[in-house]
Order: sequence, then C-alpha cells, then structure tokens
Amino acid sequence: MQFVMDCLTVNENGNLSMAGCDLTEVARQFGTPAYVMDEMQIRQNCRTYRKSIEEYYDGNGLVLYASKAFSCKAIYRMMQEEGMGIDVVSGGELYTALQAGFPAEKIYFHGNNKTEAELTLALEYGVGRFVVDNRYELDMLNRIAGEMGKIAKILFRIKPGIDAHTHSFIQTGQIDSKFGVALETGEAEEIIGYAAKLSSVEVVGIHCHIGSQIFELEPFQMAAKVMLKLMATVKDAFGLELKELNLGGGFGIKYVKEDMPIDYDRYMEAVSQVVHQECARLGMNLPFIVIEPGRSIVASAGLTLYTVGCVKEIPNVRTYVSVDGGMADNPRHIMYGAEYEAVLPRNPLGEPEMTVTVAGKCCESGDILIRDIALPKVEPGDLLAMLATGAYHYSMASNYNRIPRPPVVMLKDGKASLAVRRERYEDLLNCDL
Ligand SMILES: *Cc1c(COP(=O)(O)O)cnc(C)c1O
Repeated sequence: MQFVMDCLTVNENGNLSMAGCDLTEVARQFGTPAYVMDEMQIRQNCRTYRKSIEEYYDGNGLVLYASKAFSCKAIYRMMQEEGMGIDVVSGGELYTALQAGFPAEKIYFHGNNKTEAELTLALEYGVGRFVVDNRYELDMLNRIAGEMGKIAKILFRIKPGIDAHTHSFIQTGQIDSKFGVALETGEAEEIIGYAAKLSSVEVVGIHCHIGSQIFELEPFQMAAKVMLKLMATVKDAFGLELKELNLGGGFGIKYVKEDMPIDYDRYMEAVSQVVHQECARLGMNLPFIVIEPGRSIVASAGLTLYTVGCVKEIPNVRTYVSVDGGMADNPRHIMYGAEYEAVLPRNPLGEPEMTVTVAGKCCESGDILIRDIALPKVEPGDLLAMLATGAYHYSMASNYNRIPRPPVVMLKDGKASLAVRRERYEDLLNCDL
C-alpha cells in the first residue's frame, strides 16, 4: 500500500486522487481547510461488518455505527441505506439522526450521564434501546417511562475489567472508569437483579466497550467470554435470560505506517468462535450479537486538505509549516498526542527533502498537527493532505478563536458534493445576543 488510506491513488497528472476526483481540483472548488470523504469506502466498510454478522452469526445480530465518530445528516442517511443501526450519546446526535429520517427503533442511546430531558426525548421518539450506565439513570428512566405509560428496553453498560493496551485516555474497560457498572465487585449482577423487578423497563441485554484503536484480538475475545459468563450468572441467579449481547467497537485503524490493524472480518470471526464455544459450554442459546464500530467505518475514508501559509525555519531547531486550520478542526494531537501522515497532493510520492513540524493557526503553542514529518519541499501556497481524518475530527471540531468549521465534501464516482457546508462568519453569531 502506497498510503495509509486504501482509497487513495495517484492520477495521470501525478496528483493525489480519491474516488476518481483529483484532490487539487476538490481544493480549488471547495476551498481549504476541507474534510473530504470517500462515500463508497464508508459503505464498503459497513458491508464488510454486515457480511460478518451474516457469516458468523447467521444474521442474528446488528451492526451499529457509533455515530460520535462522525455525525451529520448525510452519514445517518447513508447508514440507513446500508441497513445499519446507530448509537448516539447525546440529545444532539439523536436529534440529528431523527431529522435525517433515521428509524428510532434502530437507535441505541448510550452515555454515562443522560439527562432527564434527553431520556424524555428518546422515549417520546421510541428509541430502540437504552444502554443504562448506572442506578441513578435506571431509576430516572423507569420513572419517566412509567409516567409516559411506556416500557423502555434496556441493556446495561458493564465494565468487564479488560485492559486493552491502548492510550490511557481512551481506555474504558477497567474498574477506574466513569462508564458503567463493575463486574468483579458484583455491582453488575446486583443492578440487573434490581432492574428485573422494575415495572417500566425490560432488561434485554448487556453491553461493553473496552476501548478504542485496539489492534489485538485477545481483548475482544476475553471481553466476549466474560460477558457470556455474566449472562449465565444472571440466568442462574434470577432466571432471567438476556437476549442481547452488545460487544461495542474499538477496532484499530491505520493512522501511520507503523499501525498494523487486523482485518475487521478476522476480529469478527475470532470473537464469534469464542461466542459459539462459550454458549455451548454454558448451555445457553446464542444471544443476538450487536457490535458498534465507529472509527473503523469512517476514519480511513477521510482526509483533511489544508493550504500552507508561512514556512518558518528556525536554524538548528526546527521548521514550522503552518496551515490554514489546526486544533479547531483537529484536536486529536493536542488531546491524545495522536500521530498522522501527510502528503502533498501535487506530489504525493515525492522524495522527502525536509523534516518539518506542521502547525495550526490557533493561538496555542500546543496547536501542532504533526511533529517531525519528512516531506518533499513545501512552500507557501502548497496544498497539504492530512490522512485518515474521517473519524473524530469533524465531530470534535470547535470554533476556538472563532474559526468557522470546514465543510465536509463527499466524493463518489468522480463527483464531489457537499455533505456539510463551510461555516460562515455570520454562523458564528447565531447564538450571540
Ligand atoms: C466510542 C464508542 C464506540 C465506537 O468506538 P470506535 O473506537 O470508534 O470503534 C462504540 N461504543 C461505545 C459505547 C463508544 O463509546
């Protein structure tokens, strides 16, 4: 592979190309900075996951797109067309999905601190599942559903206690996590027993999500095993047969050459083997299997186009190449120390000539996008493409420094169209009184 993104090629003019579109043309047409995504790559990723559910579970399952990775009306419409469910973690994501016409019954509502207003909205719209995080939420949901004469179908978010060897900021499986109820302390079993007696919730299953950007198979297999054991325990203790097992997302993607993600189909196969084995061993029926990939559906289908401004060479120290975006459209380096590859769309395979640090334009010294990357000669006015920015970029973008958010340009079959238009200065005043 030439690039960390499979959907990139070099066209006959020697320019970087995606979905049959010359990216220097896309930049000319839509301006920079701009998020650019390959629609067929996104759809293909959904199809791969859906096919694995068919293959390894006889179709007895559902793939949810974890929409916090990239949320806008266009992606919810695409997910509906691909037969996916979605997960949302806030009233805002829920509202966007519903406005896009996404069917409420295929929405799972996550979050460790859903508000009364959010739970009420979700119940009114008939959201399919609530993934309940804690006792406070459970009591509130049971009360609101009761007042509305509804029964909320719930799963519990479990901390299975698995260390997934990833960056500590995005590790969520251990006991010291704000998400969910703990397994090893008996808290999980206790809350399930308590919920089983409530009148306005129906406990249908359990959920875990052990982290993100994980490259190993074993943590996923261990999580499946631990969760199935909990299902068996619950059946013994309360005679309650949980029908649904949601194993979360977290599959790693390639940001830099050193990242070695495993084929998503292999994860699915490896986990399904454990699920089948353990169900047989515990004498249980196979549960309905739900998975929730976010990053691995959109990350490698997107990049960000920037224009280079000043190139500041500090002799014997470093050369800063500043671009027309930064931490406002990509906070991942400043938040997690995330690493990226970048290429020059007019010369994507050029020999490296200089080592530079790519900086943003925000008023923070930490507003760096890439530290020490070798690039061909870069000059003011050059386009720069930062790769694998399809997940957790647009959705994490802010208006810091009152910088308008970039547009999202969707590419398909040689055509480019806007999924989200560029913010204008007047949009920045929408809420100012
Ligand atoms: C973030 C999240 C996901 C998706 O994680 P990815 O690493 O993007 O695949 C799935 N489920 C839950 C509950 C999450 O919080």
